[in-house]
Amino acid sequence: MTDAESYKKILLAVDLTEESNDVANRAIFLAEQNRAELHVVHVIEPLGFSYGGDVPMDVSSVQEQIQNQAQQHLNEFASRLSVAEGRHHLIFGRPESEIQKLAVEISADLILVGSHGRHGIALLFGSTANGVLHKANCDVLAVRVGSTTHNRTQDN
Ligand code: AMP
Repeated sequence: MTDAESYKKILLAVDLTEESNDVANRAIFLAEQNRAELHVVHVIEPLGFSYGGDVPMDVSSVQEQIQNQAQQHLNEFASRLSVAEGRHHLIFGRPESEIQKLAVEISADLILVGSHGRHGIALLFGSTANGVLHKANCDVLAVRVGSTTHNRTQDN
């Protein structure tokens, strides 16, 4: 691989579920192979989004607790991957938009997301991986996660 062909900055997007480990393993492998800088992002969807933007009560203390917990989980997760704290990103918003925006901000040339390999109607309604793929200006690697991983040979 020449220097021009290699990735320099890889952005790993994690929802912090167990499946994040599969995506992280691939990110570590690629970061080592490319000698790339690895960044990790987790996006928190503000509670208001679930209510169409208007929450009928003050949820700021709940939101603060969610943020603190997410920050702690993200730091633990990213530290296990030996990613320095300056490269842990916790952001509020819609995952697919915020992941794309951060990728531009840090000049990432590869985004890694997990993909459940949805089919049929579920695919029409979209997924985070789909959203990122359509918005991103750089390469996107969708790593198969969940039960479909085991069916991969049957799919091909
Ligand atoms: P989903 O489409 O929600 O099943 O998520 C698939 C993948 O999108 C996950 O494995 C992550 O890579 C990414 N993702 C989903 N939600 C988030 C989030 N809140 N923050 C960062 N990445 C996310």
